[in-house]
Amino acid sequence: MTTTVLGAGYAGVMAANRLAGRGEEVVLVTPEPWFVERIRLHRVATGLRENARLDLKTVLNPAVEVIEGTATKIGDGKVQLASGENLPYDTLLYAIGSGASASNGSYRIVSERETERLRDALAEAPEAPVTVVGAGLTGVELAGALREAGREVKLITAATPERRAIQAHLRFLAKHGVEIEFARVDPAEIEGIVVDTTGFTVPSLAADSGLPVDESGRLLVDEQLTVPGHPNILGAGDAVHSSFRAACATALPMGAHAADVIIERRQGQSGKPFRMGYVLQCTDLGGGRGRVQFLHPDDTERAIAIDGRAGGLVKETICRMTVRWLTQERDRAGRYSWPAGA
Ligand SMILES: Cc1cc2nc3c(=O)[nH]c(=O)nc-3n(C[C@H](O)[C@H](O)[C@H](O)COP(=O)(O)OP(=O)(O)OC[C@H]3O[C@@H](n4cnc5c(N)ncnc54)[C@H](O)[C@@H]3O)c2cc1C
Repeated sequence: MTTTVLGAGYAGVMAANRLAGRGEEVVLVTPEPWFVERIRLHRVATGLRENARLDLKTVLNPAVEVIEGTATKIGDGKVQLASGENLPYDTLLYAIGSGASASNGSYRIVSERETERLRDALAEAPEAPVTVVGAGLTGVELAGALREAGREVKLITAATPERRAIQAHLRFLAKHGVEIEFARVDPAEIEGIVVDTTGFTVPSLAADSGLPVDESGRLLVDEQLTVPGHPNILGAGDAVHSSFRAACATALPMGAHAADVIIERRQGQSGKPFRMGYVLQCTDLGGGRGRVQFLHPDDTERAIAIDGRAGGLVKETICRMTVRWLTQERDRAGRYSWPAGA
């Protein structure tokens, strides 16, 4: 039996390793023959880091067959690629992330290609100020990296954030020269270099294929991460509709759980529901500083946080751990585990 995994991101690689290590035939479809550490793209955009690529071989079980291509349509038992080739599958895992391009002309750092577009624009205008719209994790990390790179930065956010961590990020950025403005704006109407970080949009593959999606195009899955009415199609990561936050911290356990469901079904079991709990949310604020916010399993904030250089160090350690979890799963399938939910 073959499982075809679409997307070599955190969810896709984790699932492919977990399946291949347990004897499942796995085909991984990826547009690019490398793994992108997406959580480092804000530093690539600002030129603080050359790229965020890792050779796929360093994170992927060698038994996984890699097919370089982009899925354009999912049919019954086969996936069509942009090359026109049709790939048959027994089970499909939809893990294509959330790197859709911006439609409003502003820059985004959701994918490697979009990030390189911003990096080139910044290199062409080294003195130009930059406006970042959105004070989520991506906006805050980008603003911090832009300041570290010596840029004049304005960060615009619609409202005073409720989360204490985001309030602390904004205080930190303001203290380090970032102009903060509270306003609801249309990024398309702001002049100059504007980066829209307000939410991740997903590719339209699921919708184009007639699969059930929510209003933003995210694939609908049940508690076993399985598409209703399509028992041989599962989904994981940013590309699926879920009650969990779109994050690497969610994509890794979801990818692992989807693999477990596939294996359990092969063994005649029904597959357990997906559960997870959060522990930390770590933010890179630039200049080696960061914040580590401790969380309750349901993603609400605990009173404890680590700030400053210590926070920056923990953040870097966690970034490295994300790759380590993948390589550990490559070397011993089933090793990765995660905290249970509330
Ligand atoms: C700057 C930045 C900082 C971030 N920081 C954090 C953080 O600190 N902590 C955290 O938890 N999260 C963070 N995130 C979010 C995190 O990166 C995502 O939630 C995570 O990458 C989702 O993993 P995924 O496997 O679902 O998708 P991805 O990692 O995006 O992988 C999807 C893969 O699918 C491929 N693909 C797309 N379309 C197709 C197709 N049609 N056919 C085949 N393959 C396709 C893509 O090329 C990509 O390789 C950050 C994101 C950004 C942009």
